[in-house]
Amino acid sequence: MNTFMVIKSYGRKAAKANLLAQKRICELEDFISVTKAESDVCRVNESLGNEIVLHDETFFVLDFALKTADESSGVFNPLLYPVIREWGFTTGEYRVPAKPEIERLMGFTDYRKVKLNPEKKSVALEKNMMIDLGAVGKGYAGDCALQVLRQNGIKSAVLDLGGNVQVLGKKTDGSLWKIGVKSPWGEGTAAGLEVEDMAVISSGGYERFFEKDGKRYIHIFDGRTGFPAENELAAVTVVCKTGLLGDSLSTTLFVMGLEEACAFWRNRRDFDMILLTNDRRIFYTEPLSERISLLYPFEAVSVVE
Ligand code: AMP
Ligand code: MG
Repeated sequence: MNTFMVIKSYGRKAAKANLLAQKRICELEDFISVTKAESDVCRVNESLGNEIVLHDETFFVLDFALKTADESSGVFNPLLYPVIREWGFTTGEYRVPAKPEIERLMGFTDYRKVKLNPEKKSVALEKNMMIDLGAVGKGYAGDCALQVLRQNGIKSAVLDLGGNVQVLGKKTDGSLWKIGVKSPWGEGTAAGLEVEDMAVISSGGYERFFEKDGKRYIHIFDGRTGFPAENELAAVTVVCKTGLLGDSLSTTLFVMGLEEACAFWRNRRDFDMILLTNDRRIFYTEPLSERISLLYPFEAVSVVE
């Protein structure tokens, strides 16, 4: 998945369990990678409008991603790939496409036109449409890896999948895991969180970007416009029960920006979040008050209620 991953578990069977979890993640990558030839996602992207039968898991993740698109009115959009590719984020050959070109490609990103068949676990896109599960893949991989660990008798583990942290149970001494929230300003850890059985998933512009004529273009796009997200947020961390939910929401909330993200949380409340702004303020949802410690001289601290 184009990143570093660490699996750390405790107990007599840890070594074997870790290997099986690793195997599971690699297997998943073979299904959902957007660059690996023969993956489900590549087969869909080369389907020229034909119906493609998917592995159950790919179907499940795609279905979830499309529901997130619906719930966020297209802020999150797993069909942005033709646009993201044009900006060079898949090859590293970055460029700023002309606006009419982006508008043309946005014509191929209507997630409501994807046809899923739950019985056959198949999908049909229209011609020129492409999917990308990059915004949810690592989170889902974490859920699957934890399931493998659990099935192999592990009761205490921590995964770091490219900055997405997921913990199983508590530490072996019975205390809570202490997870660091990375500073988007390259200054170590911005905050600490005490958690058990939880996913702590972050998205930020600091992860991948390029600069042209003094302007920064990041790898997270506004699904409504086809332009890189550009608002007051520097990073978003979501704290919730599953990696899949956390990964989908961290990307979504980052694109929404401060106000829309807070409104979205007030409506849902099935997750918690930490928002870090470019002017070095921190916002976190009230239920995190007991778990969070601030490790950075923030300009202002606000609790979202
Ligand atoms: P994450 O690091 O989880 O925030 O996911 C970022 C990745 O998701 C990017 O590298 C793109 O492949 C993809 N992506 C970017 N913008 C969006 C969006 N608005 N909706 C869905 N996927 C996106
Ligand atoms: Mg994500």
